[in-house]
Amino acid sequence: MSNSSTASWRTQVKQLTGDLIDFIFPPVCANCGKIGVLLCDSCITSLPTVYEPVCPICGRPLKKSGPQCGRCQESPLSLDQIRAAVLFAGSVPNIIHQLKYNGMFALAEPLAEIMASSWHRWRQPVDIVVPIPLHPKRERARGYNQSELLSRHLCRMLDLPEEQQALKRIRNTHPQIELSAEDRAANVTGAFVADRRRVEGRKILLIDDVCTTGSTLSEAAKSLLEAGAASVSGYCMARAV
Ligand SMILES: [Zn+2]
Ligand SMILES: [Zn+2]
Repeated sequence: MSNSSTASWRTQVKQLTGDLIDFIFPPVCANCGKIGVLLCDSCITSLPTVYEPVCPICGRPLKKSGPQCGRCQESPLSLDQIRAAVLFAGSVPNIIHQLKYNGMFALAEPLAEIMASSWHRWRQPVDIVVPIPLHPKRERARGYNQSELLSRHLCRMLDLPEEQQALKRIRNTHPQIELSAEDRAANVTGAFVADRRRVEGRKILLIDDVCTTGSTLSEAAKSLLEAGAASVSGYCMARAV
């Protein structure tokens, strides 16, 4: 059998196996339980999309357009801008919980689709896309890194170049969700190291699942800028209001 016919035979077996698994264990909507899809159309339509005006730096929704918000003035972030597809509100916390803590890694694909359809609105500069890494210990325990999965699907959908090895997490920090806003910045200090050969002179787009205070993205940006990155922006699935 030639290489190409072996490949197409493999693809067909994979497709059949996938169809069979879907038949025996049909996917259910992570939010409402509707059978047949991982995230149903009506749950997608009801997601709280982020619209302008937003803070030009952290991307938090503002009542009217203006300069950076009070929080960005008080504690400046190290990156140029953060944007998100949806707000961390309504059904979003539940959906993200399923993705991160309930083993529903397949949700990364429909979520990346939502990110892809929002991304063009923000016109973020990008040479390479870099997901926020987990510490290897945490990634082994979870079995996957949700930001890496979001980034992989997003790059495929938007045809953007990805660099998964540009950033490493060298400290196993406490989950940010357990900490107050003040403790979050201290918790991630010195958590990342960037690879100069992969980032020098490049405009980096960081990908994360959720942005709350922006301290994780900001700390990652610090390492990337120290390693010579030309600029750093962040794009998340969801951001806290
Ligand atoms: Zn649903
Ligand atoms: Zn702001």
